[in-house]
Parts: sequence; structure tokens; C-alpha cells
Amino acid sequence: MPLIVQKYGGSSVADVEKIKSVARRIKRTAKKGNKVVVVVSAPGDTTDRFLSSAYEITAHPPEREVDMLLATGEQISISLLTMALHSLGCPAISFTGPQVRILTDTAHTKARILSIDTERIKKELKKGKVVVVAGFQGISREEDITTLGRGGSDTTAVALATSLKADSCEIYTDVEGIYTADPRMVLSAKRLKRISYDEMLELSSLGAKVMQLRSVELAKRYNVKLHVRPSFSNKEGTMIVKKGLEAPEICGVTYDKNQAKITIQSVPDRPGIAAAIFSEIAKKNINVDMIIQSASLKGLTDVSFTIAGADLGKALPAIKEIAKRIKAKGVASSKEVAKVSIVGVGMGSHPGVAARMFSCLAKEGINIEMISTSEIKISCVIGEKEVKRAVRSLHKEFGLGRS
Ligand code: ADP
Ligand code: ASP
Ligand code: MG
Repeated sequence: MPLIVQKYGGSSVADVEKIKSVARRIKRTAKKGNKVVVVVSAPGDTTDRFLSSAYEITAHPPEREVDMLLATGEQISISLLTMALHSLGCPAISFTGPQVRILTDTAHTKARILSIDTERIKKELKKGKVVVVAGFQGISREEDITTLGRGGSDTTAVALATSLKADSCEIYTDVEGIYTADPRMVLSAKRLKRISYDEMLELSSLGAKVMQLRSVELAKRYNVKLHVRPSFSNKEGTMIVKKGLEAPEICGVTYDKNQAKITIQSVPDRPGIAAAIFSEIAKKNINVDMIIQSASLKGLTDVSFTIAGADLGKALPAIKEIAKRIKAKGVASSKEVAKVSIVGVGMGSHPGVAARMFSCLAKEGINIEMISTSEIKISCVIGEKEVKRAVRSLHKEFGLGRS
């Protein structure tokens, strides 16, 4: 009997009617003679609301308690969905992450899954039940509840699909699949029938929140085909697989507003300074993205770099401290920046892509503050206010829209 893992995102279980509709789809899948394991996210904006409450109480909520709070969101969905399945006469049982021993490391709010004990799930599947598992959560080696980072239910689904050797892994969401740009920002964005893991990895890491980055990494490593589909219709969606349909020069445009730019001004230009700055930042567990060092003038340079906007509060005191130690003049920072990127595995074989991107932004009068490139993507840091215009014009420039 085929085993299917289905994951339903928060918007798909945002209210009672939606939960009932999801239950009907699950029942149909089970009736066709499949074993079904379902992963669900917290309803609607529950996770955001919980986080706002936490930050209303304190600017620095303890991460262990944040996880304790956030994990309750998914518990609402699993119980209500399982009740809805029961009322349709479809036998089902719900489990939290800890109940099925989704064992993680102890990195609260961004824990990594180490193993899953599938015994209990298999036992219930054998009894003919649909098994509903809470996404986004696990239990650490120290027996504390952990969460897997925003969007982490995608990763729960892929991890379960791998551990259970599922025949397919379906990700149901509020759009019809993976598009050439966020379909909520670019109305002419086109749905892709297939996309390669590598392209999806780039889109996810550059801001397209439709799939959590880690879930795609996991799917690529274990060769799990992902089928991203709408939960509100029967449209065919997008397959995320080893190879896309073709290798167009660009497959998508993406953006990330969660960025901050920091400049350490007038840094003495001598060997070992960059090492001193960035090893100190690494010690604080902060990821640095782009780095630029200006030309040396009278033995002094400016060092600019970007980090996630959410890390700025944590990073600034440490960076000011380093600046003082290395006798730099000062530190400037801004959260009003964003990153726009173009992604495509075919980029390498089409010369002039970067020039076209820069000219397009120039034509729009958008200033580029930083650039970074790889074989498969080009990213530019620009002013946050210009993101929509930048994404739409790049999407048009590279002919990605529906004709
Ligand atoms: P879920 O709650 O189902 O996990 P998310 O909100 O995490 O859904 O992700 C879906 C959202 O991702 C869409 O509503 C869409 O606005 C956004 N998105 C951003 N980039 C893309 C893209 N390239 N293709 C599809 N959706 C995208
Ligand atoms: N509820 C969590 C979040 O909002 C996990 C998820 O939706 O995948 O990030
Ligand atoms: Mg999501």
C-alpha cells in the first residue's frame, strides 16, 4: 500500500471551514488505498501572534520558553484536524513532535532534526489510521521542546517522508506551486511545472519563503521528490526534482527584506583585521552574508557587510566592541535595505546576465549598494523601499511573465 506524506501550511488550516476541507482531501487520499501521514502547521498567523506577545513581555524572551510557546500552535491544528477526520468517519490519531520522538539538537528556535522514531507512527498506520503529526517541533536530547525555525513544518514533512520511505511527499499551500517570483508581488508571475533542487535551494535561501531552505536541503540529500500544490484546488502544482524541465538562463526573481547592513568606518588597513572582525561575529553565531572592503585611503578602509535584519540587535553591541578594539572610527547600520536576486542554473552559459540585471536596475534609478554572484545567482543589496519596483522590472527584463 503506497504511503503518502501530506503537509498543510498555516493558511490551509486557518479556520474551521478550511480544516474541514483539508480533512475531506485527506479522507479522499486514504479512501484511494493509501497510508497517509499528515503534517500540519499552526493555524493562520498564530505563530506571529505568539511571537508578538512574547516580545510585548520582554525584548529578549528566553529561547527555551519561545519554543514552549510556539509549539502549542501546531498542537491546535493537529487536534482540530483529527477531530474533523473522525467526524467524517476517517480513523485518525494526532501526535506532537515529542510523542513521535522527533529528536533534535538543543539549538532552540532553530533546532536540527537528528532522528525520528517511526515505530509509533507505523503501528497506527497498520491499524488503518491516518496519522497527524505536528510540524515544526521536536524534543531535544535534554528532553526540552524545540522548534525548527520559521517555516519548519516543511522540514518535518520531508524528514518524515525520508524516515518512513514514503512514496510521495506533497506540500499543500496557499499558492498554486512555485512561481517565477512571489505571485503576491508580481501578478504576471508564471507557475513552474518542475524546478531543480539546486534552483529551489537558491530561491529559498534568497527569500522565497514558500519552502523552508532546510527542507529542500534534506529532500536533495535523500532524493525525496516534492510536490508543491494548492490546498484550495486540484491544480497540478510544481515538482521539485533533481533536474528542471530545461535550464533557462533565469528561473526566478526573489527578494529578502530581512536584511541589515553594517559599516565599520575607517578601519586600520593591516593583515589580520578582517579575521579579527569576522571571527568575533561568528562567535556570536551570527551569519554574515555579503562583505565589501573599500579601497585603502591613508591606511584606512571601510568594511561593510550584511546580516539578517533580525540579528542586528544581537550583533551591534559586539561589533561596536570590536570596532573600539581595532581602533576604527565608528559603526553605522541600517535596516532599510533589502536583497533582490535572480536565480538560474542556465546563467553560466548565458553571458551578460549580470550586466543586464545592473542596467535594468539603473534604468529604474535604483542604486546598488552591494553585489554578490555565484554560478547560479546574482544578488544586489538595494534600498528596501525599492524592492517591489526592482522585482517587477527584473521579472519583466528577463521575460519571465506569462505571455
Ligand atoms: P504555508 O503556510 O503553506 O507554509 P508560506 O506562507 O510559508 O505557506 O509560503 C507560501 C507563500 O510563499 C506564498 O503565499 C507566496 O506569497 C510566497 N512566495 C514567495 N516566493 C514565492 C515563489 N517564488 N513561488 C510561490 N510562492 C512564493
Ligand atoms: N508555524 C510555524 C511558522 O509559522 C511553522 C510553519 O508554518 O511551517 O513558522
Ligand atoms: Mg511555510
